[in-house]
Amino acid sequence: MLRADCISDNNSYLSWDENNYKFIKDNRDLFECPSCKQKLIFVDGIEVIKHFRHMSLSDCEWEPESQNHLEMKKFMKELLNLSNDDLEVNLGFAIPDLFLKEQKVAIEVQNSKITKRKFLDRCYNYTQNGIAVMWVFHEKLLDITKEAQNIPSLIRAAAENSFGRVYIYSDNKLTSVRFNPFYRWIDEFYDNSTGENVGGYLKKYKKKKAIEIIQEIPDDIYGVEIIRVNSKWNGNNPSGYLIAKFYDI
Ligand SMILES: [Zn+2]
Repeated sequence: MLRADCISDNNSYLSWDENNYKFIKDNRDLFECPSCKQKLIFVDGIEVIKHFRHMSLSDCEWEPESQNHLEMKKFMKELLNLSNDDLEVNLGFAIPDLFLKEQKVAIEVQNSKITKRKFLDRCYNYTQNGIAVMWVFHEKLLDITKEAQNIPSLIRAAAENSFGRVYIYSDNKLTSVRFNPFYRWIDEFYDNSTGENVGGYLKKYKKKKAIEIIQEIPDDIYGVEIIRVNSKWNGNNPSGYLIAKFYDI
């Protein structure tokens, strides 16, 4: 985790904040988890993002985090210029990676494979609580440099429930992509077994999709609005999930 409470002054601190680095180091035994109140360890890395971790996770709903996950959270916080309080907010029914309180928007950064079922359950859970969720996936889950590929079921589910586009994080960039049908020209050739010429047509692939980059989300996010939408808006009967997206991206 990137944020922890200090029991000596009751303030909340950000693990990588250089202005508080000395304080955190000097008080490293005095930080606790905002959720379960257990003592935390400050991981003071140079190669890794400085963070806090539990000694044991047995009594906390926190899951162990990878560097990728920490990196994505840090990136999104900085991209959206959010405050420390917007990070890792315990809402009782969930701890979104980032939470925009006024807009009621949760941001979930995802770098591990979860099942489609788990993904949909989380969307449902947020929607039931009136919160729209924005998902950001690590490039590990979808390599957007590949022109065409089979789309993993998790990413397909995300696209299906978010107007066909997903946000992919890669190397300190956020890109919105969508998937198009993929065709390949099959050359005509002589088939020995049937004695006929075959091929000579455009084959449409069922599982393979062409990746289309919609846009890289600009660093200067000012003016780019995050909106809440229902993934299935049928007239006046919204029956899908509450989804958050960048307006028009
Ligand atoms: Zn905890």
